Amino acid sequence: MYGHMLANARTMPPSFPQFWARGEGACAWDVDDNRYVDFLCAFGPMLLGHRNPLVDEAAARQAALGDTLSGPSPRMVELAELLTSTIPHADWAMFAKNGTDATSTAVRIARVATGRTKLLKAAVAYHGANDWFTPRSAGVTPQDRANIVEFAYNDVASLEAAAAAHDGDVAAIIVAPFRHDSFVAQEPVDPAFARAVRALATRIGAVLILDEVRSGFRLDVRGAWEGLGVRPDMTAFSKALANGYAISALVGADALRESASEVYVTGSFWYSAVPMAAAIATVRHAVEVDAPALIREPGERFKAGLEAQGERHGLPVSLTGPVQMPLLVFADDPERTTAFAFTDAAVRRGVLLHPWHNMFLSTAHTVEVVDEVLALTDEAFAETATALRAAS
Ligand code: PMP
Repeated sequence: MYGHMLANARTMPPSFPQFWARGEGACAWDVDDNRYVDFLCAFGPMLLGHRNPLVDEAAARQAALGDTLSGPSPRMVELAELLTSTIPHADWAMFAKNGTDATSTAVRIARVATGRTKLLKAAVAYHGANDWFTPRSAGVTPQDRANIVEFAYNDVASLEAAAAAHDGDVAAIIVAPFRHDSFVAQEPVDPAFARAVRALATRIGAVLILDEVRSGFRLDVRGAWEGLGVRPDMTAFSKALANGYAISALVGADALRESASEVYVTGSFWYSAVPMAAAIATVRHAVEVDAPALIREPGERFKAGLEAQGERHGLPVSLTGPVQMPLLVFADDPERTTAFAFTDAAVRRGVLLHPWHNMFLSTAHTVEVVDEVLALTDEAFAETATALRAAS
């Protein structure tokens, strides 16, 4: 397996499947026909459950007309209008395939708009796999990274220091709506930090880019920081935007419209109409049912249930971060021995969890599904506690 370690079963506990056969609703089946309740949701895309009929029917209707034509279809305009009417800070939208396309394009637009070079990002934070964002240095040069300046998430002083060190040359600040690094507890954004990032960007004339590739449409359909009253200049979306169809979007404020039309970005499939039709259906439905709110109750039940079971079995665990996309952190587990043993035991029982990356719930993960899962995780906790006691 190449690339991302998330896709490589060798880096996972032994029972994790490598190849997948199909999905439906909250469940997915591996190639050996084992059924799992899927708390990875393809690492985000499945916002409305696998093979959501509303989305798949919209995609099929467009597929019957044509997908990749010699330019965009009317779906592109409809999708842009839907996003700009849903997301208050968005006055325009452009589309690509991957989250990396959207974050990279945002940086380019910021450089055009400001005539500057530096990009401020939080240390460790993942914003994509291009030469300057990729977290692994294999195959990239120091020059590729030369314009990245890091600060600590939720730390206003370090952000101010990073900006001051490159006074006059900061093109953009890119930030995720909450801290969702792998391996460590997720952290909500400190509202004072969000406001400080906004104020700093405005003061120094830099562009504020919110990276909602992972969180988009799971926290707030209007944009994750809308509830805080903090509006970025651009936001990148992908993953959940079309419930599994390949598309990403970059939306932005009017002040950046000209700069956005100047950058050269394209791809062979960027105008494909089927994913745009799927995105329209996904966003419309997510707004209609308020997907983030709908997932909250099952998410809270899942969190409370697992935490109570962990306590009961002597394996205290926290589900950190938003309940729609929680990350498991066991107490006193620096080598993740407990996390690996527990998720392995859960996977053998048909519950696909993750030992060190945030997980994802969808609107198909109902309270009933969570209750079914909690009966199985209780057994997984019992087995793990027994095994760890025997090993110590
Ligand atoms: N930003 C964030 C926050 C992400 O989680 C990801 C993907 N995990 C990306 C950017 C890159 O998206 P993609 O893999 O679609 O290029």
